[in-house]
Amino acid sequence: MLPYATVEEAESVIGRSLTAAETLWFNYSATKSDYLLYCHNIVFLFILFSVVPFFFLFLEFFFEKSVSPYKIQPKVKLSFSETLHCYKSVMRMFFLVVGPLQLVSYPSIKFIGIRTSLPLPPLWEIVLQLCTYFIVEDYGNYWIHRFLHCKWGYDKIHRVHHEYTAPIGFAAPYAHWAEILILGIPSFLGPAIVPGHMITFWFWIALRQLEAIETHSGYDFPWTLTKYIPFYGGSDYHDYHHYVGGQSQSNFASVFTYCDYLYGTDKGYRYQKKVLQQFREGLNNNVEQNNKVD
Ligand SMILES: [Zn+2]
Ligand SMILES: [Zn+2]
Repeated sequence: MLPYATVEEAESVIGRSLTAAETLWFNYSATKSDYLLYCHNIVFLFILFSVVPFFFLFLEFFFEKSVSPYKIQPKVKLSFSETLHCYKSVMRMFFLVVGPLQLVSYPSIKFIGIRTSLPLPPLWEIVLQLCTYFIVEDYGNYWIHRFLHCKWGYDKIHRVHHEYTAPIGFAAPYAHWAEILILGIPSFLGPAIVPGHMITFWFWIALRQLEAIETHSGYDFPWTLTKYIPFYGGSDYHDYHHYVGGQSQSNFASVFTYCDYLYGTDKGYRYQKKVLQQFREGLNNNVEQNNKVD
């Protein structure tokens, strides 16, 4: 809740006119408690995980011919009941684990210093903080994920996430409740190291989930904007990890590729890419030779 009754009062305290974004924030948040603003994340998560994966299903259902060249595992197609089971499981996890965790973790947000006050941070600060959050989360997630692939971690916890060897967007948060809790630590670590504004925190939660949905979508579209992010893994990268399954000792990182490269855990993936490339080149050469003979 903001400590100003009017825009004029806020402007006199800050010492300048509010920007359009700050006026919008004032009008929206002035009478809402910080706790309520923090709990918006539950609504964002529910909407994102209901709507965005549905977009990929929509494409598959209505534009199958156009999008099929970009399907990473084209032979695998989940039935409607399998997809619905995945969605219902994820929603159950939201209501039983993610939602309650958000409700009780508010004191930690206050402790690390996530603020709701004016002025709003400049765009460059938001972008820098988000980059930091992604790098910290990626590094922490890499090592936790790698640990979860030891025999005990896999059998007791991580096996659930690997039930989908050809993932779909809905399967991004499909995991054991303990995995949801453990992987929440690196997600929280970035904001704890570099605390920012509540708006930055909202962006962080939303973008991280959008990234997870995209990497589990089962499609590798050439036009996706994430292709322009340096060292970004993407759907093809993480799909390989699911394709290999429990024995996978490759592609542990959640966002970028450099951890797997540095620690030598992308060899299987790179070998598969090389073999596929040679296979495609061989096919092209055969087609060219056949054309010459004709
Ligand atoms: Zn795994
Ligand atoms: Zn996954």
